[in-house]
Amino acid sequence: MQRPSGWKPEDVSPAPDSLELVQAFLNTSFGRGWHEELRTPEQLHTWLVSHQLLLQNEAVTEGDLRRTRSMRDALRLLLSVQSGGMTDQNALRELNRVSKDAPLTIAFSNDGSAHFAPDIGGVDGALARLLGIVMTAMVDGTWTQLKVCQNPGCERIFYDYSKNHSGRWCSMAKCGNRLNARAYRRRQQIDHSLPSKEEERVQG
Ligand SMILES: [Zn+2]
Repeated sequence: MQRPSGWKPEDVSPAPDSLELVQAFLNTSFGRGWHEELRTPEQLHTWLVSHQLLLQNEAVTEGDLRRTRSMRDALRLLLSVQSGGMTDQNALRELNRVSKDAPLTIAFSNDGSAHFAPDIGGVDGALARLLGIVMTAMVDGTWTQLKVCQNPGCERIFYDYSKNHSGRWCSMAKCGNRLNARAYRRRQQIDHSLPSKEEERVQG
């Protein structure tokens, strides 16, 4: 597993508009769990308040933490379907369960636009707001450009700005080149382990 070192959040291309908030939420954990920012209710409280998803005086329980992490991991699995992964029935069940307790309404604004807004406060309201952003991104087509980095030691969520939408790594320099170099070395080893034409003739 290749763990990219010296990462900063700005190293990953940010998704446009409010989808960046969902991206930041998904990137609270990556690299098969070696990076985890939401380990305690206090950490979740700090994260939600700093991203304006929760008020300072609203409490976060162990149950909130469990629900939030389950939703995050389920959303990650949903995203990996776009990179050729299998649909995970447990992830779908989890998302549908969370969304039942996190109702959304449509809020109309002065400028004539409308957006999904949570119809509940607290952590459920925060989760509803995130799910509303996901739904909007699915409708406007930006959701499909949100991808999981294919470096198994990384798995950061990045936004694919490549022209043909074929991006596979959060960063070519940090993850792409590293994997390309490894694949090249592996190919070289395979080539060397095969008998050359000359050897085949001698043996033949
Ligand atoms: Zn990466």
